[in-house]
Amino acid sequence: MTVLVPVKRVIDYTVKGRVKADNSGVELSNVKMAMNPFDEIAVEEALRLKEAGGADEVVAVSIGPTQNQETIRTALAMGADRGIHIEASHDIEPLAVAKLLKEVVTRENPGLVLVGKQAIDDDCNQTGQMLAALLNWPQATFASKILVKEKSLEVTREIDEGLETIEVNMPAIVTCDLRLNEPRYASLPNIMKAKKKPIEQLNASDLGVDTKSRIEQIKVEEPPKRKAGIKVASVEELVQKLKNEAKVI
Ligand code: AMP
Repeated sequence: MTVLVPVKRVIDYTVKGRVKADNSGVELSNVKMAMNPFDEIAVEEALRLKEAGGADEVVAVSIGPTQNQETIRTALAMGADRGIHIEASHDIEPLAVAKLLKEVVTRENPGLVLVGKQAIDDDCNQTGQMLAALLNWPQATFASKILVKEKSLEVTREIDEGLETIEVNMPAIVTCDLRLNEPRYASLPNIMKAKKKPIEQLNASDLGVDTKSRIEQIKVEEPPKRKAGIKVASVEELVQKLKNEAKVI
């Protein structure tokens, strides 16, 4: 079984994003980029599945500009077998990503697609669900545990009320949540080995997919600055303020 893992290149989660001076978007030049953290978790899960004998091959796919090949190399250094890069602009929207991934799925015929639950740049949380809908495949979102059975998966999901366990038939789409696993670091020998692993190069137009934007971004702004807090002298004063000023009790 092939496991397909879509990996997105995003601003590194440790970097504080800056809005461009003309409010047209987030500044990306000279900013440290990295694999979306939920996608690292998805790669790790795919590798563990392969190591346990449940998968033959792990394929990482990334859609975006040429630099996305670095993100694929990171997945290859973690242990993925090969990569697919689909050249596109960096702000490609989830629907177009899902349509391109559908074409890759049709070519590669994976038994499982492990997607991140959301990309930390757009926070859309849409791609996995849209891909499942386009393929008419079962989906299990926000997975915190995946148990592979013969032709199905038992997936524990993180939901508002706690945890829910469902069973889905394969092939399936699973979106990976934070508590699923702790991704490994790529070792130096594996980083070297990854340089020799193949990355297939495609273009959105090769796949016949229209990647035109459906969303018009009007303006990007910094969140309002929080007001400074105050110190109170006693519990009584705190209770008075909560009652009379904040009116929360
Ligand atoms: P989103 O729906 O944008 O929050 O993204 C959810 C997940 O879809 C990500 O964690 C990735 O696994 C996948 N994905 C989104 N955009 C891309 C992309 N440009 N290339 C590869 N995978 C992507």
